[in-house]
Amino acid sequence: STAIKKSLRIGLIPGDGIGREVLPAAQDAILAVGSSIPKTEFISLDAGFECFTKHGEALPQETVQALKNECDGALFGAVSSPTRKVTGYSSPIVALRKQLDLYANIRPVVAIASPGERGSKVDLIVVRENTECLYVKQEQLITTSEGVKATATRVITKEASRRIGKMAFELALGRPRKHLTIIHKSNVLSVTDGLFRETIRGIPLSDKQYTEVTVAEQIVDSAVYRLFREPEIYDVLVAPNLYGDILSDAAAALVGSLGIVPSVNAGDKFVMGEPVHGSAPDIAGQKKANPLAAIRSAALMLRYMGYPDGADRIDNAVNEVLRRGEILTPDLGGTSTTEEVTNEVVKRI
Ligand code: ATP
Ligand code: MG
Repeated sequence: STAIKKSLRIGLIPGDGIGREVLPAAQDAILAVGSSIPKTEFISLDAGFECFTKHGEALPQETVQALKNECDGALFGAVSSPTRKVTGYSSPIVALRKQLDLYANIRPVVAIASPGERGSKVDLIVVRENTECLYVKQEQLITTSEGVKATATRVITKEASRRIGKMAFELALGRPRKHLTIIHKSNVLSVTDGLFRETIRGIPLSDKQYTEVTVAEQIVDSAVYRLFREPEIYDVLVAPNLYGDILSDAAAALVGSLGIVPSVNAGDKFVMGEPVHGSAPDIAGQKKANPLAAIRSAALMLRYMGYPDGADRIDNAVNEVLRRGEILTPDLGGTSTTEEVTNEVVKRI
């Protein structure tokens, strides 16, 4: 968390599709917390597939520079990812994480459900390594007389494993259960996943404050199985990039809708909130997008920027709206619009 400031500047990168519909909701929620946080200003910044089709770049340098030089934090909506390769286009979120050194993706998944419901035991955080693994995107297509072969390089470094591990231990230490599960597949990938696992296992040996945290480990496939069977066993999970990506979407399914799960991309100096969902082209422009994931991402961003009171006010309002279950978007079985849900949250803040 950073020093308390007189005023805050938050970069807003709505991106594509419903990203443009849910970021204004997050902005409204932040404005509603008023004096719990410093006076806040917003800067709109461009990025995404539409930006690419219009200006030829998915992530303009002005956006990166503004984030680096002018902003205390940021909120990212969503960008469309074309399923077929588009020449010259690559995901701006991946580039942003790299350029701002946001090496961790943190996704708390908490169920606010009526008692007795399956989702109600879920209270966990997935900490996903954000910079390496298969996402280094070193892919090759090799055609020979014998056939066609596609390969991808997977990179795991000791340094990146150590810093993501430390962040996970730190988060676990701040929670009542203080329990960390390392996710890997070192029974098959003993070199890469072996390094990830051994490095994180070794952290409490040199950082003694972490010896309070109990450490378990699990093979990723069995982790998904157990996540669905007995989610209550988990507290903080730490995983390499790809497993973390899959696990955090799976965990989101446990609590009902992608539309309510927030995340932050965090480094040592900067945090960027981002709802877990994508641009949802199937519902874009229909006023159906659930704004709660984006609103919670704003709360999470504030929390990691050092403003827990502002974050709590937003989270409490969201939880109340969910608990009452009267004003909800269609993904949660309701009939309300994005704007109606947003207004309800703002009213309760
Ligand atoms: P992208 O390529 O941008 O990831 P996608 O097609 O994978 O797009 P997602 O945004 O990942 O779409 O969403 C998957 C499903 O969940 C879609 O059916 C979408 O409508 C639904 N969904 C996602 N976010 C929300 C939301 N905020 N509110 C309601 N439904 C949502
Ligand atoms: Mg998606």
